[in-house]
Amino acid sequence: MSESEGYRNEAEAEKLHEPRGVPLHNVHRHDVLVVGAGLAALSGALEAAKIGDVGVVTKLFPTRSHSGAAQGGIAASLANQEEDHWEWHMFDTVKGSDYLGDQDAIEILVREASSVVRGFEHMGCPFSRTEGGRLAQRKFGGHTKDFGKGGPVLRACYAADRTGHVLLHTLWEQCVKHQVRFYSEYLALSLIVKDKVCRGIVALDMATGEVHIFHARAVLLGTGGYGRVFSITSNSFANTGDGLGLAMRVGIPLEDMEFVQFHPTGLYPHGILITEGARGEGGYLVNDEGERFMEKYAPEKMELAPRDVISRAIQTEINEGRGIGGKGYVNLDVRHLGAEKIKERLPQIAEVVSKFAGVDVNEAPIPIQPTAHYSMGGIPTDLDCRVLADGKGEVLKGLFAAGECACVSVHGANRLGTNSLLEAALYGRRAGLALAREVKGLPFNEMPEEVAEQDLKMLERLLGAKGEEKVADLRKRLQEEMMAKCGVFRNEKDLNSLLETVKDCQERYRNIGIKDRSRCFNTEVVEAIEFGYQLDFTEAIVAGAINRKESRGAHARTDFKERDDTNWLKHTLALKIEEGIRFDYKPVTITRFKPKARVY
Ligand SMILES: Cc1cc2nc3c(=O)[nH]c(=O)nc-3n(C[C@H](O)[C@H](O)[C@H](O)COP(=O)(O)OP(=O)(O)OC[C@H]3O[C@@H](n4cnc5c(N)ncnc54)[C@H](O)[C@@H]3O)c2cc1C
Repeated sequence: MSESEGYRNEAEAEKLHEPRGVPLHNVHRHDVLVVGAGLAALSGALEAAKIGDVGVVTKLFPTRSHSGAAQGGIAASLANQEEDHWEWHMFDTVKGSDYLGDQDAIEILVREASSVVRGFEHMGCPFSRTEGGRLAQRKFGGHTKDFGKGGPVLRACYAADRTGHVLLHTLWEQCVKHQVRFYSEYLALSLIVKDKVCRGIVALDMATGEVHIFHARAVLLGTGGYGRVFSITSNSFANTGDGLGLAMRVGIPLEDMEFVQFHPTGLYPHGILITEGARGEGGYLVNDEGERFMEKYAPEKMELAPRDVISRAIQTEINEGRGIGGKGYVNLDVRHLGAEKIKERLPQIAEVVSKFAGVDVNEAPIPIQPTAHYSMGGIPTDLDCRVLADGKGEVLKGLFAAGECACVSVHGANRLGTNSLLEAALYGRRAGLALAREVKGLPFNEMPEEVAEQDLKMLERLLGAKGEEKVADLRKRLQEEMMAKCGVFRNEKDLNSLLETVKDCQERYRNIGIKDRSRCFNTEVVEAIEFGYQLDFTEAIVAGAINRKESRGAHARTDFKERDDTNWLKHTLALKIEEGIRFDYKPVTITRFKPKARVY
């Protein structure tokens, strides 16, 4: 642990150049440095801590990470209550991904799922249980029996509607036990990459405004998603996709960024999540005419079709005037489940709906609309979470990524509910295991002397910024246009005008003003930095959506309505260059299930 306190009093310190502008006591050293403290990051930290010294840099207190907000469940074909097999889970995930998921990565996901869930059980995670004492499982959209031929299957393990909360707390306790060193409320500013090797990160201690350098043999990014680039989202305020910006700025292309998941049931009007578990337990969707409209869109799977299908159905009902009272929402009705079941299985939902919509779910239906929820794309990695410098085969030494910020691609064009907690925990653990194997062989590569200079300059510039533009205004404009033009349905004309807006915001961002001049918890500066990341990767989302001229999974183009396997059964890699975004592609790994028409 002494090493984590920096280079002070260490013989090694003498061998180092003192980085310009950062005192040595703000320079820390860890075998492994993890950025983030959600499910992916902490799963990795815990494994790596078994062999070395691990530091975690996180802008939130660990248990406030968005993983803790996850409600519905974590998938594993345990077959505790009825027959299930990993092959069924694999088929569902491949079909759910609209055949864009890489099947080697998916096979690992579904085969190792049971060991992940049991691992949590053995750590003492308080899952909900059956009367016989086994882990209880519930139904979720797109998870079926017998390769889609049967009905919905009981596959999602859960803890009432607070699954993420219990998983995250369990992991955090284990990390504390294994002496992981936490740097909470530190914002990562840049990755230190030289000669294609990652040697650590530079971060801002938000409490003091001081810059710190974290020197490491290897870095794991577990920085989560970016729902906050949309005006209506289920994501917490911190979900600004910083890791994607960090990766883009060191020249890593981002994979499949055009695929953004809209969850069907966000509470109207702000989009707070109403778990799919509400439909898993038997909730109905109803339009203004009182019709269970899913009959028209997915006659067999109804409310338990995958999210992209249901979001499009809801949006179509709203667009065609069948929203409740002609407004922008339809109803989710759970009244028939009965007060007892609601209290036992969906207590948090009942509370949220009462507090934020003033509705008693036992008495009235819940007003819902699609809400920006999850990022299928991200930083390209191999099966052990090593970041791919070119998005394809070339590994960037010393850099790993897992969870929502990464794209190993298990979700392809559309993620199934409960597969994300699974991915974060499982691939986070794989990253940790790979780090544990490899880190001893990785040296502490020397850091460049000017390592923090750019970040120091950037902070000084922001603290003195006297420009005309306000970050809050630019962000609002971008979020609203992203929702209107890059939402559930997309078309070329809207996307082109949106891309102009992104570029205009990038231009105006150069001329922002910051009123708060203090260094201590300067949230105006922090938000400006976060918005800078968003402006970078939003361009990749929008340009990617323009570029992909087909409809697949969550990417629904009204001007290219069909899936086009001949031209588009491939992953997009979006590289930021001077003139904008340059695209490259890589093939989808198909092992067991050949692409077929996707009907539910
Ligand atoms: C409301 C809600 C409900 C959900 N329910 C489910 C569910 O039931 N089942 C399911 O499978 N999935 C669910 N999901 C999705 C799932 O929760 C997430 O995809 C998953 O938890 C992401 O985990 P993560 O570890 O990748 O990131 P997160 O848990 O989001 O953690 C990101 C971490 O990165 C840190 N960070 C970010 N930027 C920086 C920076 N610049 N510097 C330092 N630290 C930084 C943050 O502090 C945080 O600790 C839900 C999502 C939401 C929003």
